[in-house]
Amino acid sequence: MSTSSSVKQTIDNIRALLREHDHQYYVLSQPSISDFEYDQLMKQLIDLERQNPEMITADSPSQRVGGEPTKEFPTVTHEVPMLSLSNTYSEEELIDFDRRVKDLIGDQKYQFVAELKIDGIAISLVYRNGLFIQGATRGDGTQGDEITANLRTIRSIPLRAESGKGLPKDFEVRGEIFMSKKDFETMNKRQEELGAKTFVNARNTTSGTLKLQDSKTVAQRKLQMFTYFLRTNDVSLKSHSENLKLLKALGFSVNEHAKICKTIAEVKQYCDQWNEKRSSLPYDIDGIVIKVDSIAQQQELGAVAKSPRWAIAFKFPAQQMETTLKAITLQVGRVGTITPVAELEPVFVGGSTVSRATLHNEDFINELDIRLDDTVYVEKGGDVIPKVAGVNLKKRPKKSSPFTFPSKCPVCGSKIYRPEGESAYYCENFECPAQVRGRIEHFAHRRAMNIEGLGEAVIDLLVSEELIHNVADVYDLKRTQIASLERMGEKSAQNLLDGIEASKTLPFSRVIFGLGIRFVGEGVAKLLAENFSTIELLKQAKQEDLEQIEGVGPRIAESVVRFFTDKHSLKLVDRLTRAGVQMRSEKKKVTGNAAVTGKSFVLTGGLESMSRDEAKDRIESLGGKSSSSVSKKTDYVIVGSDAGSKFQKAVELGVKTISEEEFLKMIR
Ligand code: NAD
Repeated sequence: MSTSSSVKQTIDNIRALLREHDHQYYVLSQPSISDFEYDQLMKQLIDLERQNPEMITADSPSQRVGGEPTKEFPTVTHEVPMLSLSNTYSEEELIDFDRRVKDLIGDQKYQFVAELKIDGIAISLVYRNGLFIQGATRGDGTQGDEITANLRTIRSIPLRAESGKGLPKDFEVRGEIFMSKKDFETMNKRQEELGAKTFVNARNTTSGTLKLQDSKTVAQRKLQMFTYFLRTNDVSLKSHSENLKLLKALGFSVNEHAKICKTIAEVKQYCDQWNEKRSSLPYDIDGIVIKVDSIAQQQELGAVAKSPRWAIAFKFPAQQMETTLKAITLQVGRVGTITPVAELEPVFVGGSTVSRATLHNEDFINELDIRLDDTVYVEKGGDVIPKVAGVNLKKRPKKSSPFTFPSKCPVCGSKIYRPEGESAYYCENFECPAQVRGRIEHFAHRRAMNIEGLGEAVIDLLVSEELIHNVADVYDLKRTQIASLERMGEKSAQNLLDGIEASKTLPFSRVIFGLGIRFVGEGVAKLLAENFSTIELLKQAKQEDLEQIEGVGPRIAESVVRFFTDKHSLKLVDRLTRAGVQMRSEKKKVTGNAAVTGKSFVLTGGLESMSRDEAKDRIESLGGKSSSSVSKKTDYVIVGSDAGSKFQKAVELGVKTISEEEFLKMIR
């Protein structure tokens, strides 16, 4: 490969990674890497693009604000784009920022305003004649989600702004929605009491909450807002510091710690001070935002790509804490992958207590030379996954020796092996209970065969009692066998049998996903079901047939072919077929129902008789179209309980609205 094509390849790879992380962070609110790691990747991309400017494309993550409108809400276009901020973790770059400002604005005097960087979600609020009329997320910077109904529930957002002399009436305000540490903790305690899943951190919970369709739940989550931006033509705006005062006078909540700094040295002091004191604040911050104060100078400085030149975010390093490594345990996944896990003395870091962290693989342990009883640094930023960042060698016990990776599977005792070129070890025993459990858990999972009653605990029991060894055995389970298990009675046995029976009606694509073929995720499973209408056709598919499908590369194709040439897998598939699970794609009936065929439906709120996904499936199977936003072309808006802004939109556009009962009549 020539150097330039290998650079292009690297650039493409980094872009693909960043896009994937953007999706996890902004859309799913479930990041899988720390902000610091994300920012390092972005820096690498920007550096490469700077060296190869001809490779910059308009859709590169370096050029665009990361989020995107979700389509779950009506989309609004921001009158003035909502930009991101360029960021830095180093003091030298702060000095560079100051130098750039100085160079660009010449001999003029300037000053900065330094503010806490609230770790929340950016929002825009539009006021007309003093009334709050529209609120939206930043989205991709140009277009965001209109979430007015949800924002109306937030008490620090005035529905009517203060009026008075010198105050604007038509304006836009921007700021950060967040949840206080205390409210976040209280909410999690309640979740624990209810036996429900707890939330990972306040920022992701805030982001998820704002996307809820049910404003009542949003109201219960006690979100708050700090505002930091004002745009209006009613009065002339001179400086950011005066704007903050105006915002306060208008009735908005403005963070009290903003400070005018005359020099970059003062800024630096402010950053140091808050890095020290950040844990004492009642809300999470992830850095400091530094802005040139004068609006005229801001305009002169302008913006590049996705961030203004007049501001910068100084980000705090991820929080690190020391703790002891009590043990290294091994986890066995469903394909036999063995992952070492650090068992730690519990330590509070980055907003939660951490007692376990992945050690990834043997190489990772060797590189950091992690040993038992070591004092390790555990790191957690505004991020989700805690990690072991290093070892405090000064505290290493005298008699310590490097960690040697076990040679046997901790679950079944079989030999483990590390294929050449891979960093992971695998348990070679296909029958290893951990793998068996993993495969059945995957098969029964909500997104695969959705077998109600077949959760981790029940699978554990069934596997350890040797009642099931593979996913096909699930369909041979007898009521008496289930009822005889510990803590299972007749009723739970019946529920499980009902769940198993119901799984037989799920579409072919779910079965393909449930089989757990390596590299075949939900999306690929759908593609396979669309392109091969029966299991027989899929079994016969050749590597090159599979590679013809857009979205299926050589690695996936090879894995599918390997799966369907393995005699265990083929036997399993035969037994599943005989059990009655769907082994062919259902042809969509397109002429089934005159009332629905060709009509487009939007659902708002919840339905009593079925889930949203079921409703969509029903509409599509009867030849209708189900869409997520209301437009003039929508034929019907189905109004469920706690209907949201889509209902309002339907009324505004004169689109016909129907109740759940009317909808049921239509599809009957
Ligand atoms: P950013 O969070 O670095 O900075 C811009 C944002 O800061 C603004 O949009 C605003 O929401 C916020 N902000 C808070 N207080 C502010 C104040 N006082 N004044 C002005 N703005 C203030 O940039 P971004 O574009 O929102 O997000 C990009 C960052 O998000 C990345 O740098 C990364 O750290 C993180 N991210 C992480 C992942 C991941 O997988 N971990 C993925 C995508 C993005």
